[in-house]
Amino acid sequence: MSVLLGIGSNLGDSKAFIAQAVTLISERFILLKESSLYETVSLLRDDQRNYYNKVISIECDLSPDELLQFIKELEVYIGRNKNPLYWGAREIDIDIIDRNGTVLDCDRLTIPHKCMSERSFVLIPLKEIDENYIHPITLKSIDEMVSQLKDDLNIQIVDNTQ
Ligand code: ADP
Ligand code: MG
Repeated sequence: MSVLLGIGSNLGDSKAFIAQAVTLISERFILLKESSLYETVSLLRDDQRNYYNKVISIECDLSPDELLQFIKELEVYIGRNKNPLYWGAREIDIDIIDRNGTVLDCDRLTIPHKCMSERSFVLIPLKEIDENYIHPITLKSIDEMVSQLKDDLNIQIVDNTQ
């Protein structure tokens, strides 16, 4: 089944960490689509550095728990240090955005990702790779969600050649 992953970073060599994550994920799963790389200011508008984000889709038949475990191990491997702040800066953050439209809500995992509808750095890259995406719970189209965005994070495509 097709799974959407959101990948972000705002510590260290963010572009390299995100590229490394995509390479390692595509060694394990078939990479279906890959958005451009985007840059946004931090959600908390604090003194954190800007974030880099992208969304990819993969062909993946792991259970949700197995996929979460794979992601956690990958984050550690790539170099995510323990950060005491819940929403603190991080080398790499990989989130499950959607798993073939299935709905799941438990302690460890909420799919689709709880905040995806409010985040421009999820919706804008997602629209690039799936312009027909429909949120499985609200049934809103990607265009509807994008038009209702209020986060104002000044999201920009990063020129990959820079
Ligand atoms: P963030 O909320 O900033 O992504 P973490 O990456 O540290 O923070 O994730 C915290 C926890 O969120 C994870 O350990 C995981 O159990 C849980 N979680 C809940 N839903 C999801 C999801 N859709 N994708 C990834 N992690 C999730
Ligand atoms: Mg995460």
